[in-house]
Amino acid sequence: MSAPGHVYLVGAGPWDPGLLTLRGQALLARADVVVHDYLANPALLEHASVRARRICVGGPADRLDQRDINALIVRLGLEGQVVVRLKGGDPFVFGRGGEEAEALVDAGVPFEVVPGVTAAIACAAYAGIPVTQRGFGSTLAFCTGHEAPDKVESDVDYAALARMATVAFYMGARSLPALAARLIEAGRSPETPVALIRWATRPDQRTVTTTLGACARGTAPTVEPPMIALVGEVVGLRGRIGWYERRPLHGRRIVVTRSERQQGALSERLAELGAEVITFPTIEVEPTSHADALDDALRRMHTQDWVVFTSANGVDFALDTLAAQGRDARAFGSARIACVGPSTAERLRARGLIADLVPARAVAEGLVDALGAEPLVGRRFMLLRAEVARDVLPDALRAAGAVVEVVSAYRTVAATVDAGVRDRIARCEADVVTFTSSSTVRHFTACFTEAELVDLRRRVVAACIGPVAAETARAAGFRVEAVAEPYTVNGLLDALCDSRRV
Ligand code: SAH
Repeated sequence: MSAPGHVYLVGAGPWDPGLLTLRGQALLARADVVVHDYLANPALLEHASVRARRICVGGPADRLDQRDINALIVRLGLEGQVVVRLKGGDPFVFGRGGEEAEALVDAGVPFEVVPGVTAAIACAAYAGIPVTQRGFGSTLAFCTGHEAPDKVESDVDYAALARMATVAFYMGARSLPALAARLIEAGRSPETPVALIRWATRPDQRTVTTTLGACARGTAPTVEPPMIALVGEVVGLRGRIGWYERRPLHGRRIVVTRSERQQGALSERLAELGAEVITFPTIEVEPTSHADALDDALRRMHTQDWVVFTSANGVDFALDTLAAQGRDARAFGSARIACVGPSTAERLRARGLIADLVPARAVAEGLVDALGAEPLVGRRFMLLRAEVARDVLPDALRAAGAVVEVVSAYRTVAATVDAGVRDRIARCEADVVTFTSSSTVRHFTACFTEAELVDLRRRVVAACIGPVAAETARAAGFRVEAVAEPYTVNGLLDALCDSRRV
């Protein structure tokens, strides 16, 4: 037998992947095997190497027997593997991490324990309930509402519990009426406020507040597991401090259709505003199929009066190609640079160039207006843009007497979509779909059957980055709930938040 490996009992935190510890993340990256269960967010497995084995020991209904889990991690450890046993919340708080540690000790397998944010603490923070607060008493208890089923006499001292300022019940969804009745019997006031918090730190977190008396009578709203019941006067502070469920997009399920490489900023901000983000890239951007023409055009930029960029992608592909030629910004010579909108200009700035002209209205028509003050007859314009795009800009410039060369810097193609995510959207498990260009509308629509689209058009609304995408979305039959103004990611976020308020 090879040398024993190492087993790490790692607390995954409640759900929000940002609440994993740095130590937990580093160990996941190093693991040969990850053994996880349903309370740990599967997104955390992305920290593990693609080569790592992933073993799920079950959901709420079909969890592997604890003895089998112990035997599994012992066997993997003895085989010499580096094992991360990822456990929801903290491994030692009602997580049976202690039993797993004992089994490892017995078998002589080296191990380590990494704490995690336990559910009660996460529930309190995300529900806006400080579990301790000056003036509200000074004790806090964690209690299980689900004792070992073979127990005859309860070992919970309800009289002591009733004197605690704050009590958090784990696994109490089913036994809540009985627990509340015992606390009242032991002297706690039926008026004591109670918060029932389900799936804390998830985008669909739900909190209801009630009283101990209502819980005991069975008239409090039913909350399905996993939930924590927080009992105590501190629950009353939620009215002022509650923040998570008040975020402007809380509970909204929003599809992001833009390309994988451009998802980041939009998806992150949507999540921070409270939305559940469904990433569904429908397009990919690729190098142009006319690479020679782009190469040649970039060598003639200095002969132009104006070089025009109509998208951040155009900036990236043109400047990457320029760099591949071994050249830099000096290739623009004295040509002036125009950008169709602020996002394009921002990307240009990030690459060390400042646009000479950015119209107030970020569409092709806006650029034509802004150039109206310039002499155009005989002026040379080079447009660096997508392979397929509207001809509004070149047509208008030519009509004003300019000499226009249209160069394709990149092309937009259909992305290979994730079938599972596609099916979720087809079942209308989203509220909003965001469109950041007309091509995202076209490629999104192409992912669904006509029957599915009938449902989607009825039940899912569109939010668009500007009037052109909005027009394309309307033409495709979608109800457009929000249009950005200005036509940027931030504009889109503002429009979404505003549409929620009306
Ligand atoms: N070791 C875990 C607890 C496991 S016991 C921890 O430290 O958090 C399982 C119970 O934890 C559930 O029945 C529920 O009461 C609670 N729980 C776990 N995750 C939760 C979440 N995200 N929201 C609310 N309750 C949660």
